[in-house]
Amino acid sequence: MTAGAAPADAPRPPALSPSRAVDFRRCALLYRFRAVDRLPETPSPGALRGTVVHAVLERLHGLDAADRDPAAARELARTVLDELDPAERARLGEDPGLDGLLAGYFDLEDPRTVTSEGRELRVEAELGDGTPLRGYLDRLDTGPGGLTVVDYKSGPAPTVRGEMRALFGVRFYALLLARTRGVAPTVRLLHLGNATSLTLRPTTAELDRFAGVLAAVWAAVTRAAPTGDFRPNPGPGCSYCEHRGRCPAWGGEPLPYPGWPDDGPVDLPLPRPRTGEPPL
Ligand code: SF4
Repeated sequence: MTAGAAPADAPRPPALSPSRAVDFRRCALLYRFRAVDRLPETPSPGALRGTVVHAVLERLHGLDAADRDPAAARELARTVLDELDPAERARLGEDPGLDGLLAGYFDLEDPRTVTSEGRELRVEAELGDGTPLRGYLDRLDTGPGGLTVVDYKSGPAPTVRGEMRALFGVRFYALLLARTRGVAPTVRLLHLGNATSLTLRPTTAELDRFAGVLAAVWAAVTRAAPTGDFRPNPGPGCSYCEHRGRCPAWGGEPLPYPGWPDDGPVDLPLPRPRTGEPPL
């Protein structure tokens, strides 16, 4: 086990993850609904498809290198689909579109040439001011060029707004590795939807600035936590928010504040198929 990585079943003290940091910056009440109230959400077919393809690629890279071919990936896709519950399977529809995503993946790299240190790797770090960070790396590759964090994206390369979110994740993962390994990694985003990739290596100065942003987010979270003063911030994202019915900005009423959970806020929002990945 490498510094900063934790077993998937180890207790998870409160920490900030990329998803929850994005939520809080978008709307503090959304953060509360997801991380503290833990209100259930129904993943969209696109989110579910992404979860399935992540599970397939995780298993593919668990095979001997020589066996990681398209036929093996298609077989793994069938296995993962069979493990979904009937409601999830129905939500994906007759053709879940996995063949196209896997074809996009094989256009981007030959997995037989990949040497990875870990898949679905939980990594934790603490900033100088004590801000706790936690992230799950899709894959951490090793090679002559150093460490590379690989992040699979099941959609096409993002729009400008989506790119900001993707870059937020890139900086977060790079910061986690920089703080636990002492060296900033390269980060590769593999957009399977249109077989394009983006490779970035944030500078130390960028990461230091980003650490300041995350410290400010965590300070705001911990200020609101004792009383539950997480305020709504209505905007275009409300159209996609499953919790409008409980949101005061839309005439709703949140449940009584349950208090800061003993086991910390939830840091992953979406249910994952039962494939052995870290629990929610
Ligand atoms: S509906 Fe909008 S304002 Fe309300 S919690 Fe959701 S994102 Fe926030």
